[in-house]
Amino acid sequence: MKKEQKALLAELKSVYAEVEAQALPRQCEMRTGCCHFRQTGKTPIVTRIEALLAAQGVRASGRKKLTPHPEGACPLLGKDGRCTIYAHRPFGCRTHFCGPAGGPYPRQHVVGLIHRMEALDEQLGWHDGSRPFEAALADALQEW
Ligand code: SF4
Repeated sequence: MKKEQKALLAELKSVYAEVEAQALPRQCEMRTGCCHFRQTGKTPIVTRIEALLAAQGVRASGRKKLTPHPEGACPLLGKDGRCTIYAHRPFGCRTHFCGPAGGPYPRQHVVGLIHRMEALDEQLGWHDGSRPFEAALADALQEW
């Protein structure tokens, strides 16, 4: 990995740390309903730097590629119902909560952090904007 990428990934981790520091009251019971993309009809949209960090998490778990989830859920959802890259999961997984848990964070609460991530993509030379998680992650895994 290039030195510049390492520095940008470290900056992304500091964005994630700020999300935790600015956490709003939510009652997530880890039911992982939001990880079931086919059921919800929604997929996280990620910056390229988020996809790169998620790919690092996939590699750290010993995998080289993704296997589609049989029920159309996130391919990173484990058989035990837990996220297999929890520490590397994208921003959307940290800020989106289902209705019973209290709902997603309001955009104005996180917009500054989103702009910081977009600026990291610019520094990577990526100007195409954010993309659906699975496609962005598959590309990041090829590159990693
Ligand atoms: S990355 Fe983890 S938390 Fe996010 S949707 Fe996939 S399994 Fe769920």
